[in-house]
Amino acid sequence: MSGESKPADSAASDASCRSEYDAEALGVEQARARVLEGVTPVTGTQQLPLRSALGRVLASDVVARINVPPQRNSAMDGFALRHADVQTAAALRVVGTSWAGRPFTQPVGPGEAVRIMTGAVMPDGTDTVVMQEEVDLHGASIRLQRAPRAGEFVRRPGDDVARGAVVLHGGKRLGAAELGLLASQGYAEVSVRRRVRVAFFSTGDELTGIGNALASGQIYDSNRYTLYGLLHEHQVEPIDLGVVKDNEAALRTAFTQAAARADAIVTTGGVSVGDADFVKRVLLEQGSVGFWKIAMRPGRPLTFGRIGASCFFGLPGNPVSVAVTFAQFVAPALARMSGTDAGRPLHLQVPSLSRLTKAPGRRDFQRGILVEQDGRLAVQTTGLQGSHVLSGMSQANCYVVLPESCTEVNAGDMVTVMPFTATY
Ligand code: AMP
Ligand code: MG
Repeated sequence: MSGESKPADSAASDASCRSEYDAEALGVEQARARVLEGVTPVTGTQQLPLRSALGRVLASDVVARINVPPQRNSAMDGFALRHADVQTAAALRVVGTSWAGRPFTQPVGPGEAVRIMTGAVMPDGTDTVVMQEEVDLHGASIRLQRAPRAGEFVRRPGDDVARGAVVLHGGKRLGAAELGLLASQGYAEVSVRRRVRVAFFSTGDELTGIGNALASGQIYDSNRYTLYGLLHEHQVEPIDLGVVKDNEAALRTAFTQAAARADAIVTTGGVSVGDADFVKRVLLEQGSVGFWKIAMRPGRPLTFGRIGASCFFGLPGNPVSVAVTFAQFVAPALARMSGTDAGRPLHLQVPSLSRLTKAPGRRDFQRGILVEQDGRLAVQTTGLQGSHVLSGMSQANCYVVLPESCTEVNAGDMVTVMPFTATY
């Protein structure tokens, strides 16, 4: 496995211990690689007004149609002058003002200067700007306190983006900076890939919908809300198919409906060993399926396959397992399907403030809280680590990734953490 693992994950991989634990279990990187091999980007595109494209993935390269900045302009409030004058003229005569948006249009001669604002076009004849703080103003003339370098504080055309250059490559997800960059080129519309359509549902006879009273033995279906949030974060088009009962007929109907409408199907529950494994059975009827045990906790059982043209993720039912397996497998797949790259999650080495324990042979994604202690980052546990403890998921801001071989961590030991939000 070491050959396949990404450098960022290598600290957390150790194949030898895993095979002692369960020879059939797949490593996390292996499973992710299989998932990524099984998905392809959607091909449809849409032309969208710039603001509507926020968060979407650029369909193709965007080329700069103008220089930014378009003209030479000042980087400071000050005076534009001819550098040749700096050594010879004791004082310069101020002959006018160049405002941003209202240039000074006459040529500037020897011994002359123009008051200039930040962003204002450099008048013809001038080549250098001195900051207003570095001149003494006497009536209509200035004396320089310091000799500027030639060209100082002048922004050149195309400094930021040169005409003809690729401003943004296809596959880039459009964030705030990208929206601004496209606007700086005057693009009012942009071509993006269509959103990936994701059908999702929960399975389980014990589940009831929010708003209903709980009968004995029932629990509220929380996974569908977690999933909705995760799908929303990933900019896909969610198709909520509700709660499906633990029986083959109900699953058959749900799978058929989902496959007809979606590029990807995500379900929770019904995939653990001992559970009535209807999910697997119905999938085998309708499509192709891989049923994997993954050497990780939480999230050991995972189903990945296809129904028609849709790919299928059968996530475990436990609420924390849903979040962990989504992050490890579904999110990178949705990024690829969206035509972009999920980026590599940031891994940091920090001391643990808590004692942690785990079983050998699988990789743990324990929930942790990154805190600052004496000016340095450290991590503490959220406490109880059961895969049903969803409250810990909300308290956490990172996973503590404990490698396969690890069995315990003492307070003060260094551990690998994966912050929830950072990628690079
Ligand atoms: P399963 O994978 O179906 O065996 O479910 C594992 C555990 O997760 C059980 O305790 C289920 O009750 C629970 N669970 C399954 N689905 C959900 C759900 N949608 N919301 C909350 N808990 C669930
Ligand atoms: Mg179930």
